[in-house]
Amino acid sequence: MTPSDSRAAGVARLVAGEVAVIGLARSGVAAAQLAAREGASVYASDAGTRPSAEPGVVGGVLDRLAVMGIDVQWGAHDLGRIARASLVVVSPGVPPSAPPVAAARDAGVPVVSEVELGLWFLPATRIVAVTGTNGKSTVTALTAHLLQAVGADALAAGNIGLPLSELALRSAAPAWVALELSSFQLHDTHSLVPAVGVLTNLTPDHLDRYPSLEEYYSDKDRLFLNAGAGSVWVTNADDVEVQRRTARVAGAHRRFSVNGLDVDAFLDAAHEEVVLAGSPLLPIHEFPLIGRHNVANALAAALAVASADKTFSAPPAREALARGLRSFRGLPHRLEVVADAGGVVWVNDSKATNVASARVAIDAMTRPAIVLMGGRHKGESYASLAASLARHARLVLAYGESADIIVADLQSAGKGVAVERLGSSLPEVIARVREVAQPGDAVLLSPACSSFDMFKNYEERGAVFRRLARGEA
Ligand code: ADP
Repeated sequence: MTPSDSRAAGVARLVAGEVAVIGLARSGVAAAQLAAREGASVYASDAGTRPSAEPGVVGGVLDRLAVMGIDVQWGAHDLGRIARASLVVVSPGVPPSAPPVAAARDAGVPVVSEVELGLWFLPATRIVAVTGTNGKSTVTALTAHLLQAVGADALAAGNIGLPLSELALRSAAPAWVALELSSFQLHDTHSLVPAVGVLTNLTPDHLDRYPSLEEYYSDKDRLFLNAGAGSVWVTNADDVEVQRRTARVAGAHRRFSVNGLDVDAFLDAAHEEVVLAGSPLLPIHEFPLIGRHNVANALAAALAVASADKTFSAPPAREALARGLRSFRGLPHRLEVVADAGGVVWVNDSKATNVASARVAIDAMTRPAIVLMGGRHKGESYASLAASLARHARLVLAYGESADIIVADLQSAGKGVAVERLGSSLPEVIARVREVAQPGDAVLLSPACSSFDMFKNYEERGAVFRRLARGEA
């Protein structure tokens, strides 16, 4: 099926029977509203309890669903009803194996992501789609920032926070969207035809939610589902798996490298500058984010924008790109400096929820670091962090559900990493930090685990760390 055929078939299904929306956080709420606006009768369900004053989900919006005639169920999904639906729309956090999604598939009901629904109603918006294991949000935010810098009407949307369906509900759609896509979102997205598609990197993750690494990677491959001769792809030349999987994808391939490979955008280490399309764009010290991985993110975003439209690589646009790189401030919870007191710098990297993302944060440390790792184990071994920790960490404090595994993995690696096991209280961890930290140290929260054993999400974990670091709680 061509992308426009799948769109037409999907739109027809909206009014062919009842539409079931699975999950009622911000994306599900927007999807339910969008389907209803398009004339669908909608049943929306969520296994959780109804949020009252949750940040990000306004109770008033939920009330508006009732006013629109949307039938909302909290606490359970009616699997029989979902199996009789004409179309099922899945929220981003819902794994493909979740019972309501499985019920729909078993009954032969078409399943689409909330992103897919949004795409149907944003036909004129041009998309720079971003996926990969790590760096998605940073590259997405920076891409939107750079698009704005070159004068485009652009927003960041998707997994980064603003659901595409919410954008489609607005009276005016932006000309450009930098769209962050998780693997779950890609799983049920069929008609995406990006102006540029970006694949940042591929490393093991979500082994707790996917039966195999291959299945996780093949969801990422769906970025290229509708590749054709006119497609433009931006990929990481330093990542062997990325290059292996994309080598035969149709379209123009632009590549970036922090290892100085002479590709379309690269870090010239000898001259310490970013080179784009054969000429220097910016001395690297002018880019404010720390860490080499963030240079990769800058290269990916600048190359994506320069490749998105002919006018975005003309000389005035190149100057605007350089200005945009200089003025980007980064996102909270990603190597965010949250306190600097008594000679100790406190860094919140709560978004590092896998081993590869913790590694880049540890490698970015320029001071002796006390590294806080722990949370809910996701299946990867921590032993591969030992070499980086041996170079940069004075002490590792392992906490939460995964503490024993972290201690065992780091000790078995035999690199002499000092590690202490603590319990499941962040205040207790911080109290220990205060006993051992010395002027000149960094304290890095880069957990390499998910937050769900102790917190609602990584944002809450980062916010608690920030308050504790500042002595506010
Ligand atoms: P994502 O949206 O893919 O989770 P983010 O931009 O939110 O990515 O960054 C999450 C964490 O991943 C950061 O805190 C950092 O430790 C790490 N990270 C960011 N960019 C990269 C990259 N290009 N390569 C590896 N790790 C990265």
